Amino acid sequence: MSRNSTAPGQGSGGETLSLLLEKALLGQRLAEEEALLLFSVQDGQVWEIASAADRKREKVVGNRITYVRNQNINVTNYCINSCGFCGFSKKPGDPDGYLYDLPEIRRKTELARSRGVTEICTVSGLHPDFNADSYVKTIAAIHETGPEIHIHASNPMEVSYAARKSGLSTLEVLRIMKDAGLGSLCGTAAEILVDEVRDVICPGKIRTDEWVRIIREAHGLGIKTTATIMYGHCETIADRVRHLSILRQIQDETGGFTEFVPLSFIHMNTPIYRSGLARAGATGREDLLMTAVSRLFLDNIDHIQVSWVKTGIKMAQLGLLAGADDLGGTMFEESISKGAGARNTDYLDPAEMERIALDIGRPLRQRTTLYELL
Ligand code: SF4
Repeated sequence: MSRNSTAPGQGSGGETLSLLLEKALLGQRLAEEEALLLFSVQDGQVWEIASAADRKREKVVGNRITYVRNQNINVTNYCINSCGFCGFSKKPGDPDGYLYDLPEIRRKTELARSRGVTEICTVSGLHPDFNADSYVKTIAAIHETGPEIHIHASNPMEVSYAARKSGLSTLEVLRIMKDAGLGSLCGTAAEILVDEVRDVICPGKIRTDEWVRIIREAHGLGIKTTATIMYGHCETIADRVRHLSILRQIQDETGGFTEFVPLSFIHMNTPIYRSGLARAGATGREDLLMTAVSRLFLDNIDHIQVSWVKTGIKMAQLGLLAGADDLGGTMFEESISKGAGARNTDYLDPAEMERIALDIGRPLRQRTTLYELL
């Protein structure tokens, strides 16, 4: 591996850790070096951090666990990029490549309506023929077919690509997407917001400063976004902390993030794992700490989501005991994590979500994309 995957796990003195957790619970902001210390804990003190994050979660959002009825429409898997962590993208001529036309997108939207879906999420490959109009037409087709459905679409990479292909500014692209029916923007393509890491895992993607600029532009237009991190490949814990710090800074300025979603790296079918540039994903300890430290460090983002698609349902439940309050979406259809080798990605029944929630003594509530309770 070209970068150390974790910083030396030195743990922390029990006293230091207790003081630090107390500080976070009192509402005092943690410094980057304090988050670094939390991430470095390797022994049973992990449970203390998880427990503090759980108490913080209760203070911030109470006991309920939320979820959204959503469905993905990944319009195409053809992509001009070749991100090293991606097992989803295909090149023209590849037998597994696909591209949905507008009638198919409408048909899938109808299907989503019949399932009572309140959110359609569309993020796709960067198709060589796509431009701003392609994204706008996709959004418009969904919006016309299901006007009551919230469209959670695209990410800063797609906005940048659309702008470049159409000779527009990213701000203009966001405006026309919003006019076509975009409800909120996906905060993916963030991966790790450290260019040194991006150079290894996704050299063709936008740089950190462009991701940040487009997110700020979206928030400035009143378009809320999610915030994500993809961890467990070749980043250090210092990189994770830097990433969280950038998100916290943006949220201080705009308040435009609805939630934070840690995405655990699925390694199996990915080029960076196969070539030895990445390790085999995060461990359970790391998954748990990612959720817990996020809850403690991101004092201005109310909702922390567990991604059952990435970590599996059992680990997701533990995340709900370590600071998370949201189970994400039902999904109904998912291709991106499946492409990278994840299993059980297709659908999580709300009845199963309820079983998971009640098992830890907490009620399950359906929400909208923007966290209104239904
Ligand atoms: S992560 Fe997205 S941009 Fe990168 S190769 Fe995969 S589909 Fe393309």
